[in-house]
Amino acid sequence: MKLRSFVLALLLLAAFAFSKTITVGTSADFPPFEYIENGRFVGFDMDLMREIAKIAGFELKFVDMSFDSLIPALRAGQIDVVAAAMTITEERKQVVDFSIPYWTADQSVIVRADSNLTITVLFGKYKIGVQTGTTGDLWCTDELVSKGILPERNLKRYDTFILALSDLLNGNIDAIVLDSPVASRFAATKPVKVVGIIVTGEQYGIAVRKGNKELLNAINNALKQIIESGKMSELIDKYF
Ligand code: GLN
Repeated sequence: MKLRSFVLALLLLAAFAFSKTITVGTSADFPPFEYIENGRFVGFDMDLMREIAKIAGFELKFVDMSFDSLIPALRAGQIDVVAAAMTITEERKQVVDFSIPYWTADQSVIVRADSNLTITVLFGKYKIGVQTGTTGDLWCTDELVSKGILPERNLKRYDTFILALSDLLNGNIDAIVLDSPVASRFAATKPVKVVGIIVTGEQYGIAVRKGNKELLNAINNALKQIIESGKMSELIDKYF
């Protein structure tokens, strides 16, 4: 009897420990929000998740995938959280739940540093790169392709920004449309420059499976504490 309750206690403990590991999906090609350095997930979102985990009392496991796989993976239960500078949109809100917003961004247009192209690169014969399924992709699709400004064949969709950037630097495409903070980071670290900003005022949120109230509340409570304690400002100073 004693042994049996000991085993039961062990099992319960194991189940508890197991349920406390949260799998975080990200697309680690988006500095300074998420990227890999010396084999480790680093960046603003990654540290933010680590702070949330400390407060909420769970362990983290990070998984890297293409941006457009994140919501399907979340819905399929392969991951519990998306932390990927993901913009809160009406469309996404139909299928996942978002935390309170933690960042505001616009879209930027980048070209090679030695290029003479301006924002008018968007309006015609040039090739524009985006990451599949991002708000940059949606903006180009809705505002340029659907309105007949940019031929569909000139909008090149990539799994990652690493591939888009290498095609930009190789001259295979002429510009990339992406989130403004990341565009500024690339402009500071790669031979590219920002030639225009499209004001979208989009806000980033952490996504969980629809209806996962317990996890969402834990994340929101932790986020509020992180903002109030000044930890958020510390993270901003560290990465921006
Ligand atoms: N904020 C953009 C979006 O949600 C891009 C995010 C990303 O590429 N990681 O679509």
